[in-house]
Amino acid sequence: MNEKGLSHYLKAAERSTKWHEQYRKEIKQSRFDTIAVHGIYSMQEALDFNQGSIIEPIYMSTSQGYRDSDEMEAALSYQIPTWCYARIANPSIYYLEGVLALLEGYGAAVDTSCIATSSGMSAIQTAVDPFLLPDPKQPERPINFVATAQVYGGTFQQFSMRKEKERGISWRKVVNYSDISEWEKLIDENTRFLYAELPSNPGLTFFDLKAVIDLAHRHGIAMIVDSTVATPALLRPIALGADIVVQSVSKTLSTSGFGIAGAVISRKNLTAKVDNPEMKADFAIYAKTLPNRDNGPNISPFNAIMALNDIRTLRSRVDNQSRATMTVARYLEQHKHIEQVDYLGLESHPLHGVASKYLWLVDAEHDEQYGKPVNRYGHLMSFRVKGGAAAARAVFDAFIRIWRATDLGRIKSVATIPAISTHSQQGEEGRKVADIPANLIRLCVGAEHPDDLIVDLEQALAVLDGKRVTATAPEFSAGGASSATLRR
Ligand SMILES: *Cc1c(COP(=O)(O)O)cnc(C)c1O
Repeated sequence: MNEKGLSHYLKAAERSTKWHEQYRKEIKQSRFDTIAVHGIYSMQEALDFNQGSIIEPIYMSTSQGYRDSDEMEAALSYQIPTWCYARIANPSIYYLEGVLALLEGYGAAVDTSCIATSSGMSAIQTAVDPFLLPDPKQPERPINFVATAQVYGGTFQQFSMRKEKERGISWRKVVNYSDISEWEKLIDENTRFLYAELPSNPGLTFFDLKAVIDLAHRHGIAMIVDSTVATPALLRPIALGADIVVQSVSKTLSTSGFGIAGAVISRKNLTAKVDNPEMKADFAIYAKTLPNRDNGPNISPFNAIMALNDIRTLRSRVDNQSRATMTVARYLEQHKHIEQVDYLGLESHPLHGVASKYLWLVDAEHDEQYGKPVNRYGHLMSFRVKGGAAAARAVFDAFIRIWRATDLGRIKSVATIPAISTHSQQGEEGRKVADIPANLIRLCVGAEHPDDLIVDLEQALAVLDGKRVTATAPEFSAGGASSATLRR
């Protein structure tokens, strides 16, 4: 005999949705750091649902049990909040999504929502694919999207191989992204969205974002921004009017480097020329409950909490690392073996002016250290070594403290040569368009003291003076039990 009935669950869901909305409204009034620390996980939530646990628990669980068939039916028809199955939802994932929605929406007059994904690449797929469906009334009609040519190597592959080559959807590349008329010329009635990565990895593309957002909206289409390099600590495109932000959460957001993660954050009621009211009303929730439910690019609850834990300190971390990057960039700029340093923070960078219009450390005006708005430019920079590819490789191979790895955003400094790593697949031509020469080293400055990074760069660059430091590599890990210990 069923005592509770469907209406009991619907009413309970209504009450709890109201409570959570109220909490979200209240926390939204807080400053960025407070939101980053607490997110949507309140003491009440801990006491009622998580045995008072001060930190968000990692729910390593595939599914939820239900009290009865009514609750199950209501849950599986999305009538009540649920985490029926972790491919669709899970409390740990929900805590990550909650904090990212708030941080990307910080200072925006609109509401935002978020869907976390298994990777930055699946976040991009999640963000763009719903716009790229054939028009049901004219299935033969061609489809295109307009995006900057200077995008992350993985994005380049997804756009050129998975969309263009496999599906015949054309990627109209914006090369001179500073020229708004070039963007405009590429748009026609079959354009589904505008897409940009800014600052781009590694080229540091930057342009008047607001002007491009306005252009998209004048044509009734969405603006999608990959904001991985800036993070919401420096730039929040949704507050400027953008419709969707994608994040490779694997990078600066989760600096510890425990795993891969991604997220899509969208504004409610976005602009789109697609006849799909649910999608436009709440894009992230639509993606979560429908396409991603069916495609399954979900994040693991473990990775979600690892990421969430790093996000708590995002603002101060990005501030410190940006300042250290500036110090390193200034050092490299005057070095005799360096042909060019690309860092948006340097006055010599051609995009310094436009970047300074947009990249501000969030809440600096409320920080007792600053008390006024301050520009910060992130921890991604690159430099070109005189003497071409071979010289760049020699310097790269001599790094001791700086890691040679294809990574970005780590707490440890990391360097890569994009031409032979992230951007190797797109070939010479693609790299030329993206301005990624073979002598370019991308450096992402970690949280070490910049003095020590300069020491490392100094000794590595000395290789070009013939001062080869021959470090002997150990044959074994120092972590094992040595025979000396065992003999004792
Ligand atoms: C790394 C990266 C991605 C892809 O993210 P993954 O988490 O590695 O899948 C997308 N965009 C940018 C700018 C990136 O740096």
